[in-house]
Amino acid sequence: MVFHVKNNGIIYLIAIVIIVSTWLMAGAAIVLGWPILKIFGMVFIICKGIELIATMVGLSVDFRLAMALCKGRYVYDETGRMHHYQSLLRHVWEMPQMFVGYMLGMCRIIMGKVRKVETVWGVTFVVCEHAQNSCVGVSLGPIVNIASNKPHEESIRVLIQQDMGIYKHELGHTVDSLIWGWLYLLVIGLPSMVSVQMETMRIGHHKHCRLYAERWANRHGAWVMKQ
Ligand SMILES: [Zn+2]
Repeated sequence: MVFHVKNNGIIYLIAIVIIVSTWLMAGAAIVLGWPILKIFGMVFIICKGIELIATMVGLSVDFRLAMALCKGRYVYDETGRMHHYQSLLRHVWEMPQMFVGYMLGMCRIIMGKVRKVETVWGVTFVVCEHAQNSCVGVSLGPIVNIASNKPHEESIRVLIQQDMGIYKHELGHTVDSLIWGWLYLLVIGLPSMVSVQMETMRIGHHKHCRLYAERWANRHGAWVMKQ
């Protein structure tokens, strides 16, 4: 089956075709399209412009970390564990959350908060220092922003294999992103943000871990580990 080839060359080739096609479609939408298509095309071009500026600033602030994040969007799961279609869907199906995740990670690099960027199984982890004695994460498509009280500890690949709960949980959210696509921010992202705030403000004895999205992430994280 084409998506399970060992040689990632074909994946890169298909990805280049997809990326070039999205640019061409955005351009065509602006030139030829109906008003709604023109708006989509212009939003796409503006977002890409913002992304480019953030990348340039990030590279000038910390070349190594910014380059690792930039490249992470094109590093594919060499094991096929997340399935190769994940590598391709991210450029279209997961576009909104990948944009937000990338911007969040790059802004943190620019602010000097990031300690480590590592891509494991096609998912890029951006690790910041967290003053409190805990570890929290935000998954946006194939980009996971983590705040850890031990940001310098060993490789994330090793931590995942040692069954470090937070990393497994966030991998589960990347599966949710694959399932929900453009609806991910609405179905998972927004309710999760509200849920965290409710727990922090102690509204109605709410527990974030009981939210449906959190239970899904735990289940999907366990599924990824079994692959
Ligand atoms: Zn979660």
